[in-house]
Amino acid sequence: MSSEPRLTLLFTGDEIAATVRRLASEIRRDYQDKHPILIGVLKGSFMFMADLIRLLDFPLEVEFIRLSSYGGGKSPGRIKLLQGVQARIKDRYVLVIEDIIDTGLTTAFVLDYLKQKSSASLRLCTLTDKPARRKVTVRIDYLGLTVPNKFIVGYGIDWNERFRYLPGIYAIEED
Ligand code: 5GP
Repeated sequence: MSSEPRLTLLFTGDEIAATVRRLASEIRRDYQDKHPILIGVLKGSFMFMADLIRLLDFPLEVEFIRLSSYGGGKSPGRIKLLQGVQARIKDRYVLVIEDIIDTGLTTAFVLDYLKQKSSASLRLCTLTDKPARRKVTVRIDYLGLTVPNKFIVGYGIDWNERFRYLPGIYAIEED
C-alpha cells in the first residue's frame, strides 16, 4: 500500500447516522428496562459508541475493553486482552459494541472472555460486517452495514491511526 492510499466512499455520514438511529431503536426496544452494560471494543468503536449512546435515553452503563489489534497490518495473529472490564457483569445484560467484524476471531475472543463472567445475557452489535473473510461463526444480534472485502476507514476506524476523522466510511483501494 502506498503512503497516500486512494479512498472510495462506501457510506456517507448521513447513511451512517440513519443506520445508528435504526440500531438505537432496536436496542431501545430490547433493553430499555434491562439496565444493560454496553461494552465498546477499543479503539475503533469509540465514535459509533458515542453516537449510539446519545440516542439511548434509558439507564445503562458504559465499559470499554481493549485488545491487541491489527496495527495496520493484515491478519489478527495473536489476540491479547490489554484492558478488561472493570464492572461486575455477572447476571447483567451485556451488549458488546464492535466497529467491524472481519475474520470473527477478535469478536469470538471477546465473547469467550465475557462468557466466563456469566452475564444474564450476552449479545453483539456491530456497525459493520465484512463476511467475506469470516473464519469463525459469530452471531450478530444488531447489524449496521455490510461491507465488501476491502480495508475500510473513517468514522472512528483507522489505517495506521489515520482517517478516523472522516464522517463517512471509505474503502482503501489497492492499486
Ligand atoms: P477480526 O478478528 O474479525 O478479523 O478483526 C477484527 C479487527 O480487525 C477489527 O476490530 C479491526 O481492528 C481490524 N479490521 C478488520 N478489518 C478491518 C478493516 O477493513 N479496516 C480496519 N481499519 N480495521 C479492520
